[in-house]
Formats: sequence, structure tokens, C-alpha cells
Amino acid sequence: MNEEYDAIVVGAGFGGAACAALLAKHGLKTLLLDKNARPGGKGLTISREGFRYEMWPVVGGPSLNSQFAAVLREIDAEDEVALLAPDPAGVLLYKGASGGYEPLVVSALPQQAGDAANMTHWLQLAPADLPEMARLFGDMTSMPLQDIEALDEVSFLEFLSRYRLPRSVHSYFGMWSNVLFVVPTDLLAASEAIKTFRDFMAGGAMRYHSGGYGRVAEVFAQAVERFGGQVRMGIAAERIAVESSAVRGVVTQAGGFSAPIVVSNAGIQPTVLNLVGEEHFDKGYVSYVKGLLPSWALVGIRYFLSKPVFRYPVNIAFSDDSYWDSERFLRIKAGELPDEALVFIVVPSLYDASLAPEGKQCALAATLCSPDPKAGDPEVWWNKLDEMVDRLWPDVRPHVEREERYSAAQVSSLARDHVLPGQGGECIGLAQIVGQCGRHKPSVRAPILGLYYVGCDAGGYGCGTHQAVDSGVAVARLVLRDCRARQAAF
Ligand SMILES: Cc1cc2nc3c(=O)[nH]c(=O)nc-3n(C[C@H](O)[C@H](O)[C@H](O)COP(=O)(O)OP(=O)(O)OC[C@H]3O[C@@H](n4cnc5c(N)ncnc54)[C@H](O)[C@@H]3O)c2cc1C
Repeated sequence: MNEEYDAIVVGAGFGGAACAALLAKHGLKTLLLDKNARPGGKGLTISREGFRYEMWPVVGGPSLNSQFAAVLREIDAEDEVALLAPDPAGVLLYKGASGGYEPLVVSALPQQAGDAANMTHWLQLAPADLPEMARLFGDMTSMPLQDIEALDEVSFLEFLSRYRLPRSVHSYFGMWSNVLFVVPTDLLAASEAIKTFRDFMAGGAMRYHSGGYGRVAEVFAQAVERFGGQVRMGIAAERIAVESSAVRGVVTQAGGFSAPIVVSNAGIQPTVLNLVGEEHFDKGYVSYVKGLLPSWALVGIRYFLSKPVFRYPVNIAFSDDSYWDSERFLRIKAGELPDEALVFIVVPSLYDASLAPEGKQCALAATLCSPDPKAGDPEVWWNKLDEMVDRLWPDVRPHVEREERYSAAQVSSLARDHVLPGQGGECIGLAQIVGQCGRHKPSVRAPILGLYYVGCDAGGYGCGTHQAVDSGVAVARLVLRDCRARQAAF
């Protein structure tokens, strides 16, 4: 081992980059390293042929009062990137009993007077449905925190079943559960769902960032260097060195780096099974880690258009038949393809016009798939997505100049190593399901002195990137506290 640091963060995803920036800000000599050329992990932004875009649709929530804003403030970087919350921000297309897709235009800002009436009409609610809807939303917004935490063992579907709700409302939450958490309502932990929806009701959703979504992760990484640390991109950690049950540093193809603290953003399973090695852990812990379940994944197409076709930055289409629950997932796994697919499309240049050449658009489209990078044939889902896009946005096809296609295999190679069957291409990280959320979430402290996990597997809550940054904040606080405790003890 050569260069010495106080802490090494492996992975500059949103969780790792936020954590490294905060550790550096609070005085630890920090090294942030990542196998990719840019920070941002699953939410990184690239520049190509005059466009700047993410690899797939990524927008954030809550829009206001997010952990993104809190970290930017703490590292004195609020002026480096604007957090954008336009009104309107998106259109939701729902096909219910009427038989056709009906639009609801939504803002990235918190709900306004009149929004409830529009939603009532759009979800085709009868007057008799309204008292139960009011009871549901009233309970979700006013429930004390300890009552929310008591729902760690209850699925969101079980919670919704306490109310007499029409099918359209189940489809609405089924869609959000798939888009925000990439799991079904029958597995999603009700505590996680309620906390997140509450943040969205108070702070809006569908936030994006000037210069691209991944710009915030770049600003976090720049802060590491501003506070005296180092950032090494394009370097994969091959091994986290452990001796006598304590971390010693990280071995990479570019040499060794030593530190008494290593924070891994590579995912709990790749960290334990690959980077450290299961021989360093108790057998029971290894079984526990192997048994953790990933979220589902998204597969999709990036359409490069010769003309602006989309009007709204975010476009989501769903029907009573297209969101996934566990039963539908199993039917699909058995080869029974649905007629309708859920579609999620983001157009970055409708947030920030500088992200596309004038008069052009890049539309990032996705639909659901299995997280297994080796599962099935993505062609089936690309065809289904093309078919849905042609049906719902017929102006797209004549203006496609170029397409780029991606699947769970690309997600895995950009972010998380495939170390177990069925895992690697997941959207979020560990699934936010009953048994893996709230007090059942894995501890951020690994059972090896000085080793921590950061990102969507431990320490945070909320939707995707927000969960990762929330974890970054929590893990940085814990590491700094542990350091102070050790200094005080010796
Ligand atoms: C298709 C898709 C759509 C999504 N849409 C949204 C959305 O709209 N909104 C939202 O909030 N979230 C969305 N997400 C989820 C969100 O992107 C993730 O939840 C979040 O970015 C995860 O952050 P993280 O910090 O946990 O880890 P990751 O993003 O997984 O980052 C891990 C980092 O560690 C690095 N790494 C791994 N192994 C090594 C190693 N051995 N050595 C060095 N570096 C290593 C990787 O290169 C990567 O940069 C989406 C994800 C996908 C795939």
C-alpha cells in the first residue's frame, strides 16, 4: 500500500459522492474513486454529439427541501448547479374504464388548490369514493412518525386495503410504486411508501438539475478536491484489504491506497462477496447478505429526434393492466407477455434547453424488466416499448435520427457487479420491501472494523437518488462520530 488517507470511498454514485464530499468538508483526508470516467453512477450524465443526457430517465423527488439541496448548502456549492422544479413538469396518461389514455398535467412543485379536483376527474372517481380518498390522504399526511415506523412489516397493498378504493386508485399507486421504487405495492414496505409520498406532497417531485441530472454528483466530487481530498475516476477497486477483522485500504489496478476507513458504494453484495471476500465474515452474515433481494429493473431506448416532439419533460403512461405486481411479474417470467406496457420517458432539454442542439430532442424511454442482467431477451421489451411509443406519440417515429438501446446488462456494467443469480441490473439497489426497510434495513456498519456501506442498500430512505444522498449524509455523520470516538478513546 502506498498513498495514505483517513477514508476511502469506493464508488462515486450519488451516495458515495455525497458522503465523500461531507467527509472531506469535515476534515478527513478523503479519496473518492470510481471505475467509471464520471461521477453519478446510475444517474450520471454524459455529453455526446451535442446532447447531454443520462443513460435512462432520471428525475428526482422531493423537488424542494431535498437532501440534494441540504448537501449542496453544507459544501458551499449551491451556486454551482440549479435544482429545477418547473410547472408544468409532466403528463401522466392513464387508461382506465374509459378505454382510452387520458392526460393529467402535473407540476414539479407541491400540490396546488384545484389539483385534487383534476385528479378526481382523471381517475374517474365517483362521489361515493371521495370520503375514503380523503381518509387515505389525510392519514398519509398526518400519521405520527412512530405509526409510520410501525408499518415496516406491512406492505403498501395491505395498507391501501384498509380503505375502500376503486381500481383506478390501486392502478395509480401501482404505477408510482413501479416508477419510484421499482417494486410492486404488494411487496413495498408501507412505511417507506408513506414517508416518500409525504415528502412529495409537501415538496413536489420531478426535479431535474441544470447541466444534467448527474451534474450534482459532479459538484459533490469537485467538493472533495476543494476540501483537500482526491478524486480518481476510471479506477476500479479490485479488493478491499482486511487484516485482523479491520480494514486496511483498497487495492486497485493502479496500485494500493491505505486507510483505516473504507466506505463502499459498490453495493452490499458485491462488497461482501467480491471486494472483501466471504472468508472474512461470519457464515450467518454471508447467508443474510446473499438472501437480500434487489429491486426490479428498467429496459429502454434513447430516441434522438430531429424535431421537438414531446411537450413535457416527464411523460408516464399506465393502465389498469400495465403496472406490475408480483403475480404479473411471475406470469411474465413464465413467458406470458402483457398487451400493455408501462412507459416512462424523460426529455432533459425540456428542463434545460442547453442539453440538446437547437431544434432537436433526446427522449429517454423505459419500461419494466427483471434485474437479472442475463435474463431473457431485451429485444422483446424494446419492441414492446417501440409499439407503445408509436401508439401514444405517433410523431416520434418519423423524426427518429438515431436510437440507443439499453438493458439490465448495461445498468449492471455501469454500476453494480453481477455477483449473484438474478442481481446486478436493478434500478435502485436493495428492494424497498417488507423485511428490508426501516429498522430492517442492513446496518451501514459492516461487521469489520472501519468498513461501511453507503448508497441505496443502507442508511437512507426515499426514491432512488434521494435515498442514495440521504444515505450519504447519514453515513458521513456516523463515520465522523466513530472517528471522534476513536480519537477520544486513544
Ligand atoms: C433505468 C433507471 C432509471 C432510474 N430512474 C430514477 C429516477 O427517475 N429517479 C431517481 O431518483 N432514481 C432513479 N433511478 C435509481 C437511481 O439511479 C439509483 O437508485 C441511485 O443512483 C443509486 O445510487 P447509489 O449511490 O446507491 O449507487 P450507484 O448509482 O449504483 O453507484 C455506485 C457507484 O459505484 C461504482 N463502483 C461499483 N463497483 C466499483 C468498484 N469495484 N470500484 C470502483 N467503483 C465501483 C460504480 O461505478 C458507480 O458509480 C434509476 C435507475 C435506473 C437504472
